[in-house]
Amino acid sequence: MPLGSPLEDAHGRLIGDLRVSVTDRCNFRCHYCMPAEGMPWIPREEILSFEEIERLVALFAALGVTDVRLTGGEPLVRREFPALVARLAAIDGVADLSLTTNGYLLAGQAAELVAAGIDRVNVSIDSLARARFFEITRRDALDRVLAGLDAIAAFPAVSPVKVNAVPMPDLGRDDVLRFCNLARERGFQVRFIEFMPLDGDRAWRADKVLTGAAVRAMVEAEHELRELPREPHSTARVFAFADGKAIRIANPDALAHAKHRS
Ligand code: SF4
Repeated sequence: MPLGSPLEDAHGRLIGDLRVSVTDRCNFRCHYCMPAEGMPWIPREEILSFEEIERLVALFAALGVTDVRLTGGEPLVRREFPALVARLAAIDGVADLSLTTNGYLLAGQAAELVAAGIDRVNVSIDSLARARFFEITRRDALDRVLAGLDAIAAFPAVSPVKVNAVPMPDLGRDDVLRFCNLARERGFQVRFIEFMPLDGDRAWRADKVLTGAAVRAMVEAEHELRELPREPHSTARVFAFADGKAIRIANPDALAHAKHRS
């Protein structure tokens, strides 16, 4: 491909998205992602510096990338992370700069991230029941994560705020409906994403997946849904509540086998 030609995939589709993992470290220990004692982290000298990330993103932007998502690990544990956001937001061609976070450090960094130019934020929450959240993440941190969600939602410039959940088979109907309320009452987009093998504890089994159809059935027992047109290139099915609350629940059929934090 000549230098400067737009990036295309094998089917000739333009590539406009770039995902940058800024660290492999994390302050949670979700049992489906990593063991309780953590992982052998990548040595610091092998991690891209802010300058290197900025240079790479600028090169990709020159090739047509417009949407950049910052992920980890947990991106907010990277020191001076908002400074990286500011560098990337200033790059010509970067039109959409987003972040996927577990939310633990979000309340403390929300204002700085917004000032630096973050456009959208996804917060990963797998249960809205405190004990269950602790069981999954091995951290008693639900309240702190919800405070982070509130903090970022206070900035209308950051929109939409999405909540990613990986529903496990034992996720009860009550918990699913708590997510619905979060969507209906707070305006967050809730996305249920299937559990996939990552797989820190080698714990993945097909019977550990709560299918999107099952989640959708739980929602529909309480709320009528209508399906919205699928977004271009999206594997997710998107639904709105039929009673006029124009809040979406994406992925009840969980077609997106994406790492949920990313
Ligand atoms: S799933 Fe995300 S929040 Fe949980 S341990 Fe892995 S990187 Fe951290």
